[in-house]
Amino acid sequence: MTETNNASPTDFIREIIDEDLRTEKHGNRVATRFPPEPNGYIHIGHAKSVCLNFGIASQYGGTCNLRLDDTDPSGESLEYVESIINDIHWLGFDWGDRLFYASNYFDQLYEFALKLIRAGKAYVCSLNADEIREYRGTFTEPGRESPYRNRSVEENLDMFERMRAGEFDDGAHVLRAKIDMASPNIVMRDPVIYRIKRSPHYRTDMKWVIYPMYDFAHCLSDAIENITHSICTLEFENNRPLYDWFVKELIDDSRPQQIEFARLNLSYTVISKRMLIELVQNGHVSGWDDPRMPTVAGMRRRGYTPSAIRNFCASIGVAKNDNLVDISLLEHCVRDDLNEQAPRTMGVLRPLRLVIDNYPEDLVEEFECANHPQNPAMGTRIVPFSRVLYIERDDFLEDPPKKYNRLGPGREVRLRNAYVIRYESMVKDETTGEVTEIHCTYDPETKNAPPSDGRKIKGVIHWISAAHALSAEVRLYDRLFLVPDPAAESGDFKEYLNLESLEILTSCYVEQNLRDVAPGNRYQFERLGYFCADSEDSQPGRPVFNRIVPLRDSWGKIASQGK
Ligand code: ATP
Ligand code: MG
Repeated sequence: MTETNNASPTDFIREIIDEDLRTEKHGNRVATRFPPEPNGYIHIGHAKSVCLNFGIASQYGGTCNLRLDDTDPSGESLEYVESIINDIHWLGFDWGDRLFYASNYFDQLYEFALKLIRAGKAYVCSLNADEIREYRGTFTEPGRESPYRNRSVEENLDMFERMRAGEFDDGAHVLRAKIDMASPNIVMRDPVIYRIKRSPHYRTDMKWVIYPMYDFAHCLSDAIENITHSICTLEFENNRPLYDWFVKELIDDSRPQQIEFARLNLSYTVISKRMLIELVQNGHVSGWDDPRMPTVAGMRRRGYTPSAIRNFCASIGVAKNDNLVDISLLEHCVRDDLNEQAPRTMGVLRPLRLVIDNYPEDLVEEFECANHPQNPAMGTRIVPFSRVLYIERDDFLEDPPKKYNRLGPGREVRLRNAYVIRYESMVKDETTGEVTEIHCTYDPETKNAPPSDGRKIKGVIHWISAAHALSAEVRLYDRLFLVPDPAAESGDFKEYLNLESLEILTSCYVEQNLRDVAPGNRYQFERLGYFCADSEDSQPGRPVFNRIVPLRDSWGKIASQGK
């Protein structure tokens, strides 16, 4: 696995692990896990956590489990599980036979709940949700004890078993841990640990009508799996004492240590499954794998590489403070990676016809072009050249400014991999005034050679021979949102969607060499950017390309800050 930074970057989490290994806090084991809830596709924020957890395990010769934290039946599904598995494999990580499900522990968690009840440390509470909230108090006021707090162990056991047996309606009762209603940490004020919910679970179906709360199941699942370092995001900092309490009360030996780090936020997008689901369900994007989505599936379809995403995650590091990472840093990593990997080709997105008046009518020359200018091992390809070409519409200007090094009246320019041509005349549409055709002459001496008289040719433009052009559709993507931090804006985040984030160009031309391009293949279209054959819509003979990222790197400054 290649990472642009040094192989084992250090950070405060790795420093804690180093110290734990030195003091043999967990013996000499390092066991991490990635614990997604299967209620959506994973996104770039999850990718950061994946890289961190799997990266640490491999660096320390430890293990990393994949555990689906599937304790809330609503919104969870097998489709999501499958997508998560597929996406993490694609990112380049593997868990061998260490695939687990919190739902596999439902029996054990139920036993844990009984154990707490028997120890007088949990009780069935019959307040409704609003009352529980009201009794809980605030940051400045202590909570009040529930009138059901002192139910006897026998009554609690009886009620809890009847909850499980389905005797009560949803919400009629909950099981709560009996901790401390006066704790300054609200999380410790007798949190709910089980609730009644009649909802089929995608794995256990209707076996259960009570489900453990995330806070109960998550930490105990870590302990059951003998996790040494439970790495999670900052919002769980206040929950740490609760997790420690559950584990101390219920499990003797294993004590996972929770370490919190700042979640990744990325500019001009949203990273929250709740918001991403809204975009999908309301049709603002074509699906979870829409190439504009910050999901792993979306980035894959767009053409981002796993190594680019891993390099990005390594370069942003892990911090203790939330911040907003500029999306251009991610684009920079993608560009960096593709610059090395992607073969070159030519494509014209907005074609303008160009005729070389002094080139023989029926001559076709075949030029051998390098697939990568710096890497001869990537070989060459044949590109046909003839009298009528397509060039990019914006490579010609009727009245070009001085610094414009492309084609215009009186100008000469080099055709990439071919000849120098000189402008002669143009044809305009009589009604619209639009330029429809350019006429040039070529200098036969300049085939891959400078002009013999020493005159300088500044510009190089790309082209496609019209008789040999292959039609293609190209999809250009821009930022999904118009503002850097849509989730932080007032009102509905969807108001800030960039309605022009997708532009579809249907009359593009590419080289015939791309006729049977395999979906997912990536190329640099010279002078334009990196493009990927769409995995859903590209067809033999009629390729569809997604623009992964334009060529121009206007973000060098930001990138160098990230290093
Ligand atoms: P979301 O807020 O998008 O719904 P989540 O935290 O609820 O995310 P989970 O499936 O519970 O999603 O997350 C699985 C793991 O990924 C957790 O350990 C979580 O801390 C981590 N994670 C989620 N979002 C980010 C993020 N933006 N940056 C880093 N880690 C994240
Ligand atoms: Mg969550």
